Amino acid sequence: MFVEQAWILKRAALTPHYIALINLATEEQWTYQQLSEEIGKWSHFFERQQLQKGSRVAVFAKNHIQLFAVLFACGLRGLIYVPLNWRLSKEELTQILQDATPSILLYDEEGSCPLTLEKMFPLQSIEQEKDTVPSRQAVDMDDPWLMIYTGGTTGRPKGVVLSFQSVNWNAMNTIISWGLHAQDRTLNYMPMFHTGGLNALCIPLLMAGGTVIIGDKFEAETALQATNQYKTTISLFVPTMYQAMIATKYFQENQFPSMKVFLSGGAPCPHPIYDAFYKKGLFFKEGYGLTEAGPNNFYIAREHAYAKKGAVGKSMQFNEAKIINPAGQSCAPREVGELFVKGKHMFRFYWNNKQETANILQDGWLKTGDLAMMDEDGDFYIVGRRKEMIISGGENIYPQEVEQCLLQHPHVQEVAVIGVEDDYWGEIVTAFIVCQHQTTAVLDELNELCHQQLGRYKIPKHIIFLDELPKTSVGKIDKKVLQLLVDTPNC
Ligand code: ATP
Repeated sequence: MFVEQAWILKRAALTPHYIALINLATEEQWTYQQLSEEIGKWSHFFERQQLQKGSRVAVFAKNHIQLFAVLFACGLRGLIYVPLNWRLSKEELTQILQDATPSILLYDEEGSCPLTLEKMFPLQSIEQEKDTVPSRQAVDMDDPWLMIYTGGTTGRPKGVVLSFQSVNWNAMNTIISWGLHAQDRTLNYMPMFHTGGLNALCIPLLMAGGTVIIGDKFEAETALQATNQYKTTISLFVPTMYQAMIATKYFQENQFPSMKVFLSGGAPCPHPIYDAFYKKGLFFKEGYGLTEAGPNNFYIAREHAYAKKGAVGKSMQFNEAKIINPAGQSCAPREVGELFVKGKHMFRFYWNNKQETANILQDGWLKTGDLAMMDEDGDFYIVGRRKEMIISGGENIYPQEVEQCLLQHPHVQEVAVIGVEDDYWGEIVTAFIVCQHQTTAVLDELNELCHQQLGRYKIPKHIIFLDELPKTSVGKIDKKVLQLLVDTPNC
């Protein structure tokens, strides 16, 4: 057995009777032995389909434990697992299929798959398979294992190709940094077509022999109840999920004693969320990552985390990070520049897109397109996306700073700040706010808050109340849609 390719089988040999996976909705659970058998079935299925090494296996399905069996079987057969975002339109999905040209499409019978491919099978067809002894094709560690199309918050989705090396090093880094072990349990609602639902915690925890509990449709109170019911120890949610969780009565009335750390990721985290967790004596930490790198890049120890609210910490043990200013030099402490990361966890290339691959890499470093700064202790803070930085009257404004300021108002639930084109200023700061009381009194208080805490040029010139903010399929605030809203007359 080639362990770097088939470590999950080694894991199953080490701890066969430990629980690997639980489906939250149905309470179905698999031990590592059962997982290994399911992987075996899929590996034979793929062999019978005569899929050649490097062929793509597209998967259209909602979160389910079965998807891990497919993913690991792809690894064993040298196939590339391509999870599809089932929330996309048929047109968008067709575009992705045309790009990925999969040899086979697997779909969830209950999910009404809008796609057609010559070879397509429901996931349920594996129930007929009898042979559970895994079969394998040899691979190199640089070979692709997984291709994830990015969320598309900044443009057309790109197929991010991750090799065995990328996935394994991200997992090992995560295990070492967080000290993950076989007694750890995570509850995962992050979509499994996104790196957050695969690489952030699930794959690392399976490598460590822990238990992954898979949720499908996020519901705040159920998530919190499951945290206590299954005594989970480490979980990742996006800020919008946390927002919903802290608003529940269950959160206010209960403790979460099994949890070592609650992780937030994927988007900037409003500071009131930190406060809600810290008031309960819970460790809350913001991670930073992107599909192309990990996604896990930074670590911060509990004792530093609260004093440095908003810090993502230092780069993990086998990663490197640096911040570069427009002159191409390393930034001084507290100077904002572009974040670069490096490590064996990085992606290999964008599928069919040599140009974009070349654009994002520079001397072995990955240019993240995000802005960051470092404090005097070497801890990193994410400041925002470079593309979203507002330049108004020649001054740089980072939307995240303005958003954190507005979020301090007790009635404000969600905020998004964008730059809107203006003939005189170049851009003007515009804030979209979801708020309990959309009154002029609140508007005055918000203006007052900004005047107290922000330089004049950063204060929003327009504040627009909305009932809700548009979100991407992974729950991030979709600023592209907000931009369209202001660009469209009569809105
Ligand atoms: P696209 O690649 O098209 O922009 P996407 O933004 O959804 O889509 P992902 O790889 O899913 O791509 O997300 C990575 C991005 O999420 C990062 O580049 C960063 O902008 C943002 N992000 C992740 N963690 C944080 C964080 N802690 N604070 C602020 N932003 C974050």
